[in-house]
Amino acid sequence: MAKVCAIFGGSRGIGRAVAQLLAQKGYRLAIVARNLEVAKAAAGELGGGHLAFSCDVAKEHDVQSTFEEIEKHLGRVNFLVNAAGINRDSLLVRTKTEDMIAQLHTNLLGSMLTCKAAVKTMVQQQRGSIVNVGSIVGLKGNSGQSVYSASKGGLVGFSRALAKEVARKKIRVNVVAPGFVHTDMTKDLNEDHLKKNIPLGRFGEPIEVAHAVVFLLESPYVTGHVLVVDGGLQLII
Ligand code: NDP
Repeated sequence: MAKVCAIFGGSRGIGRAVAQLLAQKGYRLAIVARNLEVAKAAAGELGGGHLAFSCDVAKEHDVQSTFEEIEKHLGRVNFLVNAAGINRDSLLVRTKTEDMIAQLHTNLLGSMLTCKAAVKTMVQQQRGSIVNVGSIVGLKGNSGQSVYSASKGGLVGFSRALAKEVARKKIRVNVVAPGFVHTDMTKDLNEDHLKKNIPLGRFGEPIEVAHAVVFLLESPYVTGHVLVVDGGLQLII
């Protein structure tokens, strides 16, 4: 049976690195993001057989129609990676409600919607594997990131509960929780200052997180797990 993986947020950063690893392993990939041109470029560099789709994960009708399109063109999804995410960092008292909603809708509701659509088809296939990309701040919290932390903490609770719900259907659900990683999301941070607090002394690279995602995606006896990939940051915060 073909291994068909939908990677939401697969056009850039961590999701794109996951796509590069999975393409080498023979998966058929759906690269999903809002910006279709960037997604097409990411899919194109993987070689043949992979397709790009435009979708806002926060919109249920978008997610549903995207799964229908993926099934039509690539086959039924049996692997799902949720790497779509945004941050709007600020102290809570300065955070606009619209920025709270945007983070919760993209990071948490978005993953719920894609998981719901994926589980429906995975149940029919009696197999499936899902990896949701959380964050170390979802476990530890971080000043200036209360809403983002809540979205990622919620993702852990959601993923563990879903793992229990679907285990009997041979569907696994796991989380990778990265620390600071070199992507567009972190390009404006003060790296020199922040890396002093990281035991391994540096930010991570997308490919280093991607290896953890692929490990969980393919580990047949692991479910409900949260794998931290943070250069040791969790040891000290
Ligand atoms: P990037 O900003 O590099 O990439 C984000 C990806 O998500 C892009 O492909 C983007 O494409 C897509 N995306 C964003 N919003 C939506 C949406 N509403 N619908 C569909 N796709 C969307 O981020 P990273 O690679 O750094 O982040 C990947 C995940 O890892 C995120 O969940 C992030 O929270 C998490 N993370 C990142 C860390 C880091 O240090 N970089 C640390 C901890 C966690 P487009 O804009 O075209 O939609």
